[in-house]
Amino acid sequence: MEEINPCTACGACCAAFRVSFYWAEAAENGLPEGLYEPLTSVLANMRGTNCRSPRCVALSGEVGSETHCIAYESRPSPCREAQPRDEKCARARAINGLPAL
Ligand code: SF4
Ligand code: SF4
Repeated sequence: MEEINPCTACGACCAAFRVSFYWAEAAENGLPEGLYEPLTSVLANMRGTNCRSPRCVALSGEVGSETHCIAYESRPSPCREAQPRDEKCARARAINGLPAL
């Protein structure tokens, strides 16, 4: 039986850390311009994630309930590398008051 992806009922890592990436990735992936901003001369970050209470502007829905990335097809590398049940996942969920998977 196929396992249900736990991320669709979570979204915690989109609301826990700064999501930064090499700036050229945005154009390579077709990430819409309004969704990211420059961070340094070589890095950009998803808007909404470079602050004390981060929440990516591309995240819709309610963290821990039902979420959706509106930029899923063009999301940057940190989002593609996110793995349910790893240490970063557990930290992101803890930051959002959710138990580890
Ligand atoms: S990787 Fe973990 S923290 Fe991120 S959305 Fe999936 S389950 Fe949630
Ligand atoms: S681009 Fe999508 S997957 Fe990446 S942090 Fe934002 S909402 Fe999450």
